[in-house]
Amino acid sequence: MDDPRARVGEAGRVMSTSSAPEIVEGGCHCGAVRFRAKISKREAVRCNCSICTKKGFLHLIVPEDDFELLRGADVITTYTFGTHTAKHHFCETCGIHSFYRPRSHPDQVDINVYCLDDVDPSSFDVTLFDGQDWEGSIDELLKR
Ligand SMILES: [Zn+2]
Repeated sequence: MDDPRARVGEAGRVMSTSSAPEIVEGGCHCGAVRFRAKISKREAVRCNCSICTKKGFLHLIVPEDDFELLRGADVITTYTFGTHTAKHHFCETCGIHSFYRPRSHPDQVDINVYCLDDVDPSSFDVTLFDGQDWEGSIDELLKR
């Protein structure tokens, strides 16, 4: 599939592309929820909103086509609040939020980097998102 990030940018320069996509796997703590994803860059977002702070979530957002739930659909519970756009999925047994549907990208899947197997979270470039001022920050995030 054509990676839009590999196209020539507005300034005429070729946008940087990383090495070949990586296939990563992860899941919740008890193992009931497992997923696989294809990631093209080790880039993540940290958000300071009320729920991301408490979860300690490090966001890795991937297109739905690059995400595959291997097991656990039957044990996932979903929490919503506020606009109810974000679907905060978690394992009903261990309570871990390993991925969810974010308000910023409701048609994509947001994986918690800390729930990936054998991936060092410090290997990711992290962008800060001011989720405490969500409306004032979202345009910049979506430009990435
Ligand atoms: Zn679990």
